[in-house]
Amino acid sequence: MDESFLPVRIRQSIADLPPYRQGKQADAGAFKLSSNENPFPPLPSVVAAASAATAFNRYPDATATELRSVLAGRFGVSKDSVHVAAGSVSIITQLIHAAAEPGEEVMFAWRSFEAYPGLAQVAGAVPVQIPLTPDGRHDLAAMAAAVTERTRLILICSPNNPTGTTVTKKEFDQFHARVPHDTLILLDEAYAEFVNDPEAVNGLDYVRSPTHANVVALRTFSKAYGLAGLRIGYAVGHPRVLDAARSTAVPLSVTAQAEGAALASLAADDELLARVATLIERRDRMALALRAAGWSVPAAQGNFVWLPAGSDTETVAPAFERAGVVVRPFPGDGIRISVGEEEAVAAVVRVASDHSPSREVTAPVGAP
Ligand SMILES: *Cc1c(COP(=O)(O)O)cnc(C)c1O
Repeated sequence: MDESFLPVRIRQSIADLPPYRQGKQADAGAFKLSSNENPFPPLPSVVAAASAATAFNRYPDATATELRSVLAGRFGVSKDSVHVAAGSVSIITQLIHAAAEPGEEVMFAWRSFEAYPGLAQVAGAVPVQIPLTPDGRHDLAAMAAAVTERTRLILICSPNNPTGTTVTKKEFDQFHARVPHDTLILLDEAYAEFVNDPEAVNGLDYVRSPTHANVVALRTFSKAYGLAGLRIGYAVGHPRVLDAARSTAVPLSVTAQAEGAALASLAADDELLARVATLIERRDRMALALRAAGWSVPAAQGNFVWLPAGSDTETVAPAFERAGVVVRPFPGDGIRISVGEEEAVAAVVRVASDHSPSREVTAPVGAP
């Protein structure tokens, strides 16, 4: 097929984008550690709740009222301070469309969540990428300094996908004080439940603060709660800010099945958070072993670890595949490995140790 041929007129900025092609599917028997999914199968009570909502001929409740009520009760906010969508990625899209006119700026750290640049571009906004520090953390001073009168939305990803690092509360507070109060700050906390660093920022601390009406906390049921396939996430923030997201949303995207599963998951919180604790323990053990093998793994606070393989990424990543572990390489940068099944831990550590950067250099680990 002639890829340059376009039978109809398309916005140039869209025609220029690389078309989305599904990533490689894991071979049967391989451990799929490439998408930060939860390895535990859904709880029977959650499956039952999703199946019970089977009026397939009916539209769902357009605003997921029941789920919003439960979440609002938990966080001590009004129902309108919670917005539910088909995955938290949908809410990022909605808020970019709501906040930025074409040509205005959406700022985020880089490398960060791979969806950010495309979501900004599709909305006609200008993505502004501020490099991470060498240890894979947000450079909030540089981000604050890069704010212009055209900046409309700032994404802070904590823990950062793919490096795993968090922004501290202190850093966030200093950053917030430097940013104009009418500029939207979206705290993407897709991995919040996996954080065990007490210094880390928690977006929910700000949702009742009148001086933080420009802060929206973004959460999802995809990771800790294991509902990635059902597509459901939520935002907590100022009702008028969330009204803007509701206005740009594709209507009726959240199915009754997803809402039912989310409600059942909240009801089974104890059981699900015990699984999260298991994954946290597995993650911390993995990160320690990888550091002991000579890798400079940054603070891992999500359900994944980051191997900063740099220019070796494309030679190291295939070694994992050969060992039956599907990982996520970012060429030139590094490899993200999700914390999955216990059986995969040893294979990950073995392959990483075989390709340790400290085997190739004579300098001691940590030397400049
Ligand atoms: C996985 C992820 C999301 C969430 O995705 P949804 O499945 O759309 O809720 C959002 N942000 C980051 C940084 C992620 O890694």
